[in-house]
Amino acid sequence: MIDIKQTDKSFVANTYNRFPVEIVSGKGSIVKDSLGKEYIDMGSGIAVNSFGVSDHVWIKAVTEQLSNLQHTSNLYYTEPCAILAKMLCEKTGMNKVFFSNSGAEANECAIKVARKYASDKKGKDYHTIITLKNSFHGRTITTLSATGQEHYHELFNPLTPGFVHTHANDFDALIKVAEANKTAAIMMECVQGEGGVISLNEDFVKSVADYAKEKDIILIIDEVQTGNGRTGELYAYMNYGIKPDIVTTAKGIGGGLPLGATLLSEKVENVLGFGDHGSTFGGNPVCCAGAISIISRLDRAFLDDVKSKSEYIFNSFLGAEGVKSVSGMGLMIGIETEKPAGDIVKKCIEKGVLCLTAKNKVRLLPALNIDNKTLEKAIDIIKEVCAE
Ligand SMILES: *Cc1c(COP(=O)(O)O)cnc(C)c1O
Repeated sequence: MIDIKQTDKSFVANTYNRFPVEIVSGKGSIVKDSLGKEYIDMGSGIAVNSFGVSDHVWIKAVTEQLSNLQHTSNLYYTEPCAILAKMLCEKTGMNKVFFSNSGAEANECAIKVARKYASDKKGKDYHTIITLKNSFHGRTITTLSATGQEHYHELFNPLTPGFVHTHANDFDALIKVAEANKTAAIMMECVQGEGGVISLNEDFVKSVADYAKEKDIILIIDEVQTGNGRTGELYAYMNYGIKPDIVTTAKGIGGGLPLGATLLSEKVENVLGFGDHGSTFGGNPVCCAGAISIISRLDRAFLDDVKSKSEYIFNSFLGAEGVKSVSGMGLMIGIETEKPAGDIVKKCIEKGVLCLTAKNKVRLLPALNIDNKTLEKAIDIIKEVCAE
């Protein structure tokens, strides 16, 4: 029999330090490895499997589309792409959607739109994009430049020019940066995910949104991780009562298939014209059919249930032995533990729970529909490991 771990080590590029587990199948929030061991999945493939593994509604939507047409090209119309775009616009009040395949690409599109808008409106030198320190916006050279974490940059210079990073939750500092540069856009995550599951302050987000509007600076909210029901609202910005000019998303939108979306408000809906941007796979009918089956189920009752699960998780960990603090929003939770987060995650795997880390924290991103019993069981195990 072929040794998968060894074969992977030999032939797959060395960019992932994988855990010694080969996942082969699953149902809902339970996944199974090649030895038949079961795990409760508290990471859902990094907030991707919104309804867990092999959800039957999603499978039906995807396989029905697959048996009709797997791909055409963006030279032609397809129904799932149009229906999904309409659905996203109706649920957000945005006006148009550009589809791509990943979070980084969704952000690339947003950056292009913002730069073209500013260039058309204010002049070619208005190209600076302000992002926050500790942010994460992707791995392409341009989205790495947007990412406000030096250690991602060091090996890849020169990066794309025109990005400036400022401290989160410091509005005065942001204004200084905005005024010292010819600023096209401000881009931020409402909850910094990779940065340690840290929610931005409501005052800061509101002030930034008001300031951007006043100065005609494009406000881009990166909802790649926070979006699609993750925080208990369809998009995290909705928790803050703001209206961004551009919203980017990916991860959970396709329920496990690669799809990125850049949502454009009225102000910027026509900034890009024919030929200004494109993607071969973007808006793929199978991925869009999967996304329709996810987005259409994120109604108020479902989102309220996400919120109550969140409350339950917060209450379970607050004050628990070995736990220093709990942060985040909805089903996007960071637990600061007394022991190193990496050690906790390893121990949890042994005990049959898959969790993630973010900086110094244990990060939980369970499927949005995880049942309460399974959730309780996972929390008990994680708490037990934290207390050991
Ligand atoms: C994951 C992530 C990205 C990058 O998404 P990819 O699909 O990996 O390109 C961008 N922004 C945020 C906030 C993310 O969490």
